[in-house]
Amino acid sequence: MSPSTATEELAALDHEIDARVALLRSAHPDWPCTKGCDACCHRLAALPQLTPPEADRLRATLAELPTAEIAAIHARLAALGPAPTAPITCPLLDPQSGACPVYAARPIACRSYGFYVERDKGLYCQEIAARVAAGSLNDAIWGNHAAIDRRLSPLGPRRALNEWLVPDTATCPAAPQP
Ligand code: SF4
Ligand code: SF4
Repeated sequence: MSPSTATEELAALDHEIDARVALLRSAHPDWPCTKGCDACCHRLAALPQLTPPEADRLRATLAELPTAEIAAIHARLAALGPAPTAPITCPLLDPQSGACPVYAARPIACRSYGFYVERDKGLYCQEIAARVAAGSLNDAIWGNHAAIDRRLSPLGPRRALNEWLVPDTATCPAAPQP
């Protein structure tokens, strides 16, 4: 698949996920995923896996952040090490605001989290799982995470966030000069 086709496919996938999220939110206006709820970004089982077009747009957005913010992100990446163990706090998460600084370019794994489910892996988020257990989301029409995975596969090999964001002078002004 050419890079431009992969970018188009990714945009189409974004659109479909947005539509699913909007549907679930409209049926449940009190849906728990709101700005300021960053618990899932604090207790990752593993760092998000990204395909090449996801990594390209994330890196492009990251490069537009203020220099000090980029340096802080790379410091958190370095502190995390190459093989972090769960629960992991995403190194991109702004610890002060609890916001995702690359929200518009966040990985598909983050866009779909909380709204898509996998047959054998449940609902992931404890907050949402608790609502399901209480019966308040009985009519929710969840997205199918396996279908997302199938759509992502042709976009290229997936690698973990920290593998894509190895500090270099293109994305991190604080990186050592070659
Ligand atoms: S998935 Fe769970 S922890 Fe994450 S934003 Fe939604 S409710 Fe909050
Ligand atoms: S990329 Fe953003 S949304 Fe995804 S885990 Fe990191 S901080 Fe959270």
